[in-house]
Amino acid sequence: MTYSENKCPHCGKMNRDFFCNTWMYGSPIRVCKKCGGKYMDRRYREPAVQGFDPRTTDPDLYKNVGLICAALFILVLVWYRFTTRNLGYYSNYQVAMLIMFPIAAVGCLIQYFRIKSGKMQKENEKYLAESEERLKDKQYVADLIANGYKVLEKYIDNGGQDNGE
Ligand SMILES: [Zn+2]
Repeated sequence: MTYSENKCPHCGKMNRDFFCNTWMYGSPIRVCKKCGGKYMDRRYREPAVQGFDPRTTDPDLYKNVGLICAALFILVLVWYRFTTRNLGYYSNYQVAMLIMFPIAAVGCLIQYFRIKSGKMQKENEKYLAESEERLKDKQYVADLIANGYKVLEKYIDNGGQDNGE
C-alpha cells in the first residue's frame, strides 16, 4: 500500500489517495474529489499503455540489491566487532545498519521469489485487466491521447486516429 497526494490545479484541494498500490498502477488522469475537474498525475502508470513497472518483472534487480545489502551487512558486522572488541565502543549508526540491511536483504529476497514464482505476474495481470477496463471508455482514451500518451491502436476506436510512430 502506498499513500499519495496531489493538489487539484483547478480548485486547490489536496486530493489524497490512501489505497493506491505499490507500483502506482492506475489512471494518470485524476478526478478532483471536490470540484470534479480532471488533471494529470504522471506518477501513476496505466499498465495497458505504459507497461509494467520494471521492478515487477526483473528478478535480477532484487537479487543484486539483496546481495549488496547482505554484503554491506557483513561489512558493518565486521566493523562493529572491530570497534567493540578493539576500541571498546559501538555507535547507534552501526546498530541501525545491522538491523536495516538484513531487513532490506530479506525484503529483496521475498520480491525475488514473488517474481520467480509467477505471483507478481498474476498481480500484474490483474492490474492490466483493470487498466483495459478503464480503456474501454472512449472519452478516457481521448483524454490520454490529448495528454501525450501513446495509446495502442487496439484501444482506439475505428483506428482513424494516427498517433505517430
Ligand atoms: Zn478541484
